[in-house]
Amino acid sequence: MTDRYAVFGNPIGHSQSPRIHSLFAAQTGQDMSYQAILAEKEGFVAAVSAFIAAGKGPARGANVTVPFKAEAFRLATRRTPRAEAAGAVNTLSFDNGAISGDNTDGAGLVRDLKHNLGCDPAGRRILLLGAGGAARGVILPLLLENPAELVIANRTEETAARLALEFARLPGCAVGAKPDGTGFGGLAGRQFDLVINATSAGLSGAVLPLPTSVFAPRCVAYEMVYGRATPFMQQAGAAGARVADGLGMLVEQAAEAFFIWRGVRPHTAQVLAALNERA
Ligand code: NDP
Repeated sequence: MTDRYAVFGNPIGHSQSPRIHSLFAAQTGQDMSYQAILAEKEGFVAAVSAFIAAGKGPARGANVTVPFKAEAFRLATRRTPRAEAAGAVNTLSFDNGAISGDNTDGAGLVRDLKHNLGCDPAGRRILLLGAGGAARGVILPLLLENPAELVIANRTEETAARLALEFARLPGCAVGAKPDGTGFGGLAGRQFDLVINATSAGLSGAVLPLPTSVFAPRCVAYEMVYGRATPFMQQAGAAGARVADGLGMLVEQAAEAFFIWRGVRPHTAQVLAALNERA
């Protein structure tokens, strides 16, 4: 019997996850299927239940994307510490009625930075732009890499300040720099070695009010959005930064989920190359 997996979201038509996981399965010889499921905005739990109940093989797990990550967090009967810190779940595992929840976004980002881009966060001054779900998911994994500094800057300054305070109080944060929260106005005159854009501004083509000085010499600028050249990428490139988009993070967070489910870590380089070829 083939083990079954799915990704739930709304919208979901654009999702690359079925392709990524089928490439992982072929590469590692795993007998599994993976489908994209469009859940109604109010129907996430019902859709997951229907997926578990129906089908020929056993349902083993699921990925969860916008807008259901908080609901998946509540659905999980047990959660990993990194999912607790993120307050969101993007990976569910089903086992005899128990539902385990994890969040692989931060691990995916860190792996992309370290292994694909040769950019180790350790000792770097990091600027994280945005304070929504994506930013929240990567803060603890970044802090655990021992950066020299982590500043969270957001359009709504209070959200950044609240988020920084919340993570500064986490016991795990004692090993890294305590994060600091600010608005974009608080960035004047400051410099960073790694600038990560976790805002959704790029989706609407909005330009972030960033002083050019935030990009230190040899800075890496990471845009979580992928598949388009965003104003942030153009801004960073013009300031001399090395620019990357979020496709590597997407593939690496999927690889982490695959590892949780199957106990095998797929090679991501060839999958990333295949996706880049199609882009
Ligand atoms: P949320 O809606 O939770 O948060 C959006 C954030 O963007 C907020 O901080 C918001 O600020 C800010 N923002 C939105 N528009 C603007 C603007 N015009 N100017 C300045 N700030 C703005 O979204 P998520 O955190 O879930 O996702 C953020 C992005 O990350 C998305 O584009 C998503 O595609 C991407 N992503 C990529 C992943 C990958 O694997 N590559 C994984 C997860 C997410 P405010 O608080 O002021 O509203």
